[in-house]
Amino acid sequence: MTGDPYCSALVMKIASRCNINCSYCYMYSFEDQTYLQQPKFMSQDTVDILLLKVKEHCLRHSLQRFFFIFHGGEPLLAKKEFFSEFVEKARRTIDTGVKLFFSVQTNGILLTDEWCQLFIKYNIRVGVSLDGPQAVHDKHRVDHSGKGTFLKVLEGINTLKANGLEQTAKMLCVINVDTDPIEMYEFFKSTGIRSIDFLFPDLNYECLPQHINLATETRYADWLIKIFDRWILDSKSTSPIQIRRFVNAISLIMGKSTISDEMGSENNSVLVIETDGGIESIDSLKICGDGFTKENLNISTNSIDDALSSNLARLYYKSHNSLCDKCNACQVKEVCGGGHIVHRYKKSNSFDNPSIYCNDLGKIYTHIRNSVYEILKKYELVEA
Ligand code: SF4
Ligand code: SF4
Repeated sequence: MTGDPYCSALVMKIASRCNINCSYCYMYSFEDQTYLQQPKFMSQDTVDILLLKVKEHCLRHSLQRFFFIFHGGEPLLAKKEFFSEFVEKARRTIDTGVKLFFSVQTNGILLTDEWCQLFIKYNIRVGVSLDGPQAVHDKHRVDHSGKGTFLKVLEGINTLKANGLEQTAKMLCVINVDTDPIEMYEFFKSTGIRSIDFLFPDLNYECLPQHINLATETRYADWLIKIFDRWILDSKSTSPIQIRRFVNAISLIMGKSTISDEMGSENNSVLVIETDGGIESIDSLKICGDGFTKENLNISTNSIDDALSSNLARLYYKSHNSLCDKCNACQVKEVCGGGHIVHRYKKSNSFDNPSIYCNDLGKIYTHIRNSVYEILKKYELVEA
């Protein structure tokens, strides 16, 4: 690989609308309304040019692996043929020894046996958004008539399991600290899906959580710590569910590098392609304002390297290494990496801030680090 910034993954907005209407959706429910100018679906012309640009980029940077993430809106609103043709074309076009990986992030509602068979055939990994048991999930994840979507998502998850995809699928859950963390943990274990990521709500200094004082309370950390302690106990007796934030934190504490835009110190080599071919930085930055991610770049006229040199893409790429003074002096910087760039935004000084979740992040990662140390001490692998 060359030492220049590179892109190793594209989040592809193949559908720019959604069949549901989550209250916290950064694509459609905040200030940014640019989706209204977007085509509803990505065209084959855009796919063709996109694949050629990825090939060129992989060659230029001698990349060995490249990741395509089908995203939306709701990507399963696109036709099944879109997926099969995309994968086949990608394998034909990027024929330079680069290993290609494909995944899809869905709300789960449209999952059927046919979709699952297509994912198996084309080796497309599935991620499903699920916020917890029915009362929790249905609080925010509702359809366009305001009706909860839990039962339909559960049906989708059962379809994944019936097709043998439970070991490779993963769930995404936006943390709700008003829930009982142990009940939530047990619920996610009971789904049978083996991997979950707990996400902090995408907010920033301009829109803080409404009923939590992040300066004086650490409810997110306290919630996660309860799950972490149970998860560690569980791992002694059963095959544990993979909780990505914990697994990554332990890896980082043990000195392994981990690629995540939420933590660590690696560069974030991900870009977004909108349905019209627009190249943008990470989509959750849309909460920072209407048109915030638009930098007038398009795959039809720009290279991926052009996009990487845009202001936002550069900030995002280096977001774990371009930190404010407080983060640079922090004891858990190597694990936290300042958290997600989106959570640092303030109109007055852009991203030159610790995360709004700083107190929580400091507490949870200190707890995990101390727990790892206690385990090593117990087995006499470190001095007491
Ligand atoms: S499923 Fe995703 S894209 Fe659709 S409304 Fe919910 S958060 Fe937004
Ligand atoms: S815990 Fe706070 S100060 Fe430390 S790196 Fe994370 S955001 Fe920065």
